[in-house]
Amino acid sequence: MNSRLIYLDYAATTPLDPRVLEAMMPFLTGMSGNASSIHQVGRAALQALDDAREQVALVLGCQPKEIVFTGGGSESINLAIKGVAMALRAQGKTHLISSTIEHHAVLHALDYLVEYEGFTVTLLPVDRTGRVQPADLSTAIRPETALVSVMYANNETGVIQPITELAAICRERGVLFHTDAVQAPGQLPLDVHALGVDLLSLTAHKFYGPQGVGVLYLRRGTPLVPQINGGAQERRRRAGTENIAGIVGLAKALSIAESERTAHANRLRALSERLIDGVLTRIPQSWLNGDRQTRLPGIVNVGFACIETESLLLLLDQRGICASSGSACTSGSLEPSHVLLAMGLSPDEANGSIRFSLGRQTTDEQIDTLLDLLPDLVAQLRTLTPCA
Ligand SMILES: *Cc1c(COP(=O)(O)O)cnc(C)c1O
Repeated sequence: MNSRLIYLDYAATTPLDPRVLEAMMPFLTGMSGNASSIHQVGRAALQALDDAREQVALVLGCQPKEIVFTGGGSESINLAIKGVAMALRAQGKTHLISSTIEHHAVLHALDYLVEYEGFTVTLLPVDRTGRVQPADLSTAIRPETALVSVMYANNETGVIQPITELAAICRERGVLFHTDAVQAPGQLPLDVHALGVDLLSLTAHKFYGPQGVGVLYLRRGTPLVPQINGGAQERRRRAGTENIAGIVGLAKALSIAESERTAHANRLRALSERLIDGVLTRIPQSWLNGDRQTRLPGIVNVGFACIETESLLLLLDQRGICASSGSACTSGSLEPSHVLLAMGLSPDEANGSIRFSLGRQTTDEQIDTLLDLLPDLVAQLRTLTPCA
């Protein structure tokens, strides 16, 4: 990456950690091997796969058998939601619950089940701070509810959801609980027993690992219909020759993220507080989206009255600053963020909001450079398009 670039889009993807690359190298430059082969090259691949599975299980506090490697976050989420839904449908469980602020991987997997498989879905609302209320979940659960899926922390606002409480309600009512924990590693604890979840999805490229490799934690005994059929890999839960280099990288990246979590989170917290304070004091008619306390330390989503974020993103980009309007999947289109709308922002407020996500290479100096530029850019945009 250009060293003068100020990259503030870590929630979209993170750079590969050199220590992770080093762990992957033998499998990228030499023979990667097929873990299903009988010979020594295959056995070496199988050994690497087993070691990686143990490393991941150690971080999640589960058994290695409960880990399924996938092709990324979207695949893990699709496998969790469609896999459980298909497995429980025969018992008349045709209702699913999620929230209005989920990533599109969750929302569109649910849409698919409604459109093609006859399921019904209830989406729980969030309050102005961006949080799901556990009481709303209690009321939404029906005898035919198969699965509840609520994200651990939101990728646009960073707001942390009360998943321990939500999972406890599900446990009591005999309903399975999945969480999209993609934004959590390196910032929030991941012990699946402490969280009380039955399924949990992760993707390596959000924690300084490679792109295109993910994890689904599947509590022992959880019914699941595989979504990719073929060989017997991953205990028949996900067919296809394993991406050994990617899996080794994921495991290494997750171990590092967990061992450095407290220090990393504290550093991010100080940086993001500096950014929030700077924005709110220097820019008139600005606000923070989402709860200030119950938030990932690495994500800051702020709004400015009377501007279009798309224009601000272009001006920032010209000055070497990379940020986002929220979800990368919807940028390029001028649709206001479904997350911010669900929190009760108007379409104009949502379209005037911007996400800065901080990470390992973010410095105080970078935040100060941004804070020196931002007031003028916002003022400039406001003179161009005076507020109605
Ligand atoms: C990035 C992201 C995903 C999708 O992960 P991919 O690896 O890109 O498929 C899902 N959920 C959340 C919250 C994310 O931030």
